[in-house]
Amino acid sequence: MARRQMVAVGVDLGGTTFDVGIVTPQGELMERQSYDTPRSGSEPQALIAVAAAVGGIMEKAAVKPDQLLGIGLGIPGPVDPDSGVIKQAPNMHELDGVNAVETVAGELDLGDGVQVKVRIGNDAYCHTLAELRYGAGRDVANLVMLTLGTGVGGGVALDNEVRRGPRQIMGEVGHIIVEPNGRRCGCGNHGCLEAIVGRDGMIDQAVRLLEQGMPSVLAEWGGRKHEKLTPKMIAEAADQGDELALEVMKTSGHYIGVALCSCIVLTDPDLIVLGGGIANAGHVLFEPIRRTVHHRSLISCFDTDNIVPSELGGESGMIGAAALILDEME
Ligand SMILES: [Zn+2]
Repeated sequence: MARRQMVAVGVDLGGTTFDVGIVTPQGELMERQSYDTPRSGSEPQALIAVAAAVGGIMEKAAVKPDQLLGIGLGIPGPVDPDSGVIKQAPNMHELDGVNAVETVAGELDLGDGVQVKVRIGNDAYCHTLAELRYGAGRDVANLVMLTLGTGVGGGVALDNEVRRGPRQIMGEVGHIIVEPNGRRCGCGNHGCLEAIVGRDGMIDQAVRLLEQGMPSVLAEWGGRKHEKLTPKMIAEAADQGDELALEVMKTSGHYIGVALCSCIVLTDPDLIVLGGGIANAGHVLFEPIRRTVHHRSLISCFDTDNIVPSELGGESGMIGAAALILDEME
């Protein structure tokens, strides 16, 4: 690498694995690596491993401490970005209440007296920031981002800034109620978007249709009790024209579209960006989403061509975490 190139490190922390990337001020990922997330009952082992991994990747990429602008951490749960405390990590409870900034800064060993800036953000915030600065939204100032995965994350950018609100709730698109008497959500409510189109919700839809006797390749792929079914399989089957899988994508797309109609009247976005594994499904998912928005958001006249897939894909978590640092440089 160029000798004086300044860089930021972005960490995308997950309950099973975490990704660390070296990112330039232009938002380019120069080097990346994935690691298993160590777990233990009460110690914040994951954060200690993150600090070690940052040191390792810097050495590998020959980044000197004086080239490092700082380290951004994307956390899967609500955080207090000012104090550096992880409020709650739903799938990693050993990190609840832990000051991630102090822990990582304290564990990091880059030589005598080297002080490194560390920042944290919620992972959905990081995905949104990455797309706003360097991805699909780099030419707009206002966007809504949806991340479709095990859960459904979201983020809102207004006037070129990602907003979270005073209680860090703004942009929690997954918990917009789209079916008041619908399936129970992990948050305790019924009929949230996440309950219907999150991982379990989509599998539930497919299983119900299989149990009604609808023929599908998913009956073979999923085993006798359908325990092996995944949203990815459903998307693949839909891509092959499987009628049951297409029905699931149609229903899911419809509900995503319903939620987006609420997002549109609340935030008046220039662009809506869909990320997460299932967003790769393409036409079979985007078509019902666009159709619903076209028919149900009459007041906004929102151009449904402005509902687009994420450009940064699986890299947006790392790039967005690094952007927590890069944003402060301007
Ligand atoms: Zn919910």
